[in-house]
Amino acid sequence: MSSDANTTAAVRLLIVEDGPRYLESTRLLLAPHIRKITTAMTGAQALAQLAQSDYDLILLDLRLPDSSGHELLAHLREQYPDTRVIVMSGDSRVDTVIHCIRLGAYDYLRKPCEPEELIKTVRNAAHKVQLERDNRRMLQQIDQSEQWHRLLINTSPDVIYTLDDNGHFTFLNESISRVLGYRPEDLVGHSYEALVPRDELDNARYHLNERRTGDRSTRNVELRLNRKENPGKNGGEATVTVEVSATGMYRALADGTGAFIGTYGVARDISARKQAEATVTFQAYHDLLTGLPNRTLFNDRLGQAITQARRQKQALAVLFLDMDRFKVVNDTHGHLVGDGLLQYMAQRLRGSLREGDTLARIGGDEFTLLLPNIHTRHNATLIAEKIIASLKQPFHIDGHEIYSGMSIGIALFPDDGETREILIKHADLAMYHAKDHGRNDFRFFTHDLQHSLTGRLAVENDMRHALTRGEFEMYYQPQVGIRSQRICGMEALIRWHHPERGLVAPNDFIPIAEECGLIAPISEWVLDAACKQAKSWRATRLEAISLGVNLSARQIEHPHFVDKFIQSLKDNGIDGQGIEIEITESTLMRDMDGAIEKLRRLADQGVEISIDDFGTGYSSLSYLRKLPVHTLKIDRSFIHDLVAPSNGSTIVAGITAMAKGLRLNVVAEGVETSAQLDYLKSIGCDSYQGYLFSRPVTARDATGLLQAH
Ligand code: C2E
Ligand code: MG
Ligand code: MG
Repeated sequence: MSSDANTTAAVRLLIVEDGPRYLESTRLLLAPHIRKITTAMTGAQALAQLAQSDYDLILLDLRLPDSSGHELLAHLREQYPDTRVIVMSGDSRVDTVIHCIRLGAYDYLRKPCEPEELIKTVRNAAHKVQLERDNRRMLQQIDQSEQWHRLLINTSPDVIYTLDDNGHFTFLNESISRVLGYRPEDLVGHSYEALVPRDELDNARYHLNERRTGDRSTRNVELRLNRKENPGKNGGEATVTVEVSATGMYRALADGTGAFIGTYGVARDISARKQAEATVTFQAYHDLLTGLPNRTLFNDRLGQAITQARRQKQALAVLFLDMDRFKVVNDTHGHLVGDGLLQYMAQRLRGSLREGDTLARIGGDEFTLLLPNIHTRHNATLIAEKIIASLKQPFHIDGHEIYSGMSIGIALFPDDGETREILIKHADLAMYHAKDHGRNDFRFFTHDLQHSLTGRLAVENDMRHALTRGEFEMYYQPQVGIRSQRICGMEALIRWHHPERGLVAPNDFIPIAEECGLIAPISEWVLDAACKQAKSWRATRLEAISLGVNLSARQIEHPHFVDKFIQSLKDNGIDGQGIEIEITESTLMRDMDGAIEKLRRLADQGVEISIDDFGTGYSSLSYLRKLPVHTLKIDRSFIHDLVAPSNGSTIVAGITAMAKGLRLNVVAEGVETSAQLDYLKSIGCDSYQGYLFSRPVTARDATGLLQAH
């Protein structure tokens, strides 16, 4: 097959000719050039073929047995306007030819025609058909691809725009209505400035209205654009943040330069991403419960404030605030109330501050406060006082009325430290000093404090290891019958042999153990040690004495306190007889009903109960009737006051008389002089404890004392 058969491969030809030999020879002549040839010998046959399939070309003999060629030609024109008809006729007169052309014939061949002419004419027509067809397809394709591009552009999530050389919109895709609420036609013809907030105009001039091209042109630059409708306060932002990429467009000029014709740009709505970023940033720098800055943000602000204070030769203050007894609230009312308290607390604290101050929550119940531009110590004092005064009113949470205080430590830059770490550490130290001195108070850092034991973090850390390293030891202090002058009991008092600090007294670590939860394992250890000691003394027939064990409030609040206690007795193979637990009034008051029920269960085991530091707590004595109390231990502050006569003595005498009335045993604590002892004897006090007879001593020395008596 020849090459043009390939180019005209799809052309379909119908030959209509009544002479069979002529028909066949025509077909054979054309076959190498046209692949799809069909034949018909009458007009009717031709119409039947046409009805069946489409033809591009018809080679039509004008003289057919069943119809006039002209009529057929006219009919074809009308019915099949796209089909080209080449007429063949023996009649070659000019008017016949013209008539045929008028009727729509494409070409005319005189019969009998030269083979070359036939082939050439048909081939030309076929080529034309093919060209037209290609052309049509191309137009179709162009149309389709334009539709496709339009679709791509309009369904693009990004705003796509073009500006003319004056910065007026010439095109915007439909995304503009989703992103900003405008229809493209609202903006076309208007300047880009219509979309730009005033404070972004300078930025927009270079980026939205970009003139540069290539690497220097705008890539992913953030801009804010106005929404059409300002959604107002509750409807979100009035602007949308977009990321713009744009480039200048130039038309090539004959001299090789280019003329600026406008800008093409893409703007992507990144407000959702911005918001997510903002949330993440907020969460990274804030405490989610209270919304206050967290430790990271506080440190950052403190760092900045220090730099500024140094430059301007000013002072600043760091306050470390720790809520008093927060754990108790949490344990008694539950975490929801605890969380509520923290939130209200944050609110109330904020109320005492100025605008430039930073209040942060850096831990469970710990806050830090940065006061920049403090002129004198007095300024910091005022704020601390204001905070403490604001906590006089209770918090109302979930139907509970809760009082909560703050212990506050203050460190000043530059006097107390010049770095963030030191300032915070020193404020923390000062805070512990405040806690030690009765809580709900504030203290300034002093350099003496640094050496004191109040560095709570250090204590807490060391205490965690103290149990495993066996650094605790029980000391025992005798209680002596005033009349008999014999030892009637021993009080177990814990000591901590700190590897660096030496012997540490319980007041310096028990409160911290209570706060950080280490009190539980320490109490278990104390109880176990005391039980072992009691057993050993019983075994050596020193059983007549009672052994007093101090209980911490947190220990009693523990739900399994009684079971653990009884278990400890069992483990050591002793009963409760002769064990006396010492509990302070304030401990009892924290949960009277709970305490009564627990202490009764212990009393059932033969354990005796004594009220420690009596007289320092509540003056209500009604609880004494409700409890199985055995002994009152009069606080040593009253005994101490006995030196200065009169007023103190009446209190001790009063307590002793009342105890007698209630048939309670009385122990006077902290007896240091024989004058005190004489007075106690005179008012009928049963027994005493104090340095006068013996300081607390090791188990070995205590055993020696017992044996000597
Ligand atoms: P407390 O139960 O009132 O213990 C009496 C405290 O007075 C002891 O202090 C004792 O050494 C001291 N003392 C005794 N005689 C005199 C005296 O004549 N003059 C003076 N100035 N002080 C005297 P210590 O051992 O430092 O204990 C302090 C507090 O720590 C105890 O007060 C008790 O509440 C608590 N504590 C001691 N051991 C334990 C324990 O194992 N567990 C618990 N939870 N608390 C304990
Ligand atoms: Mg005691
Ligand atoms: Mg006491």
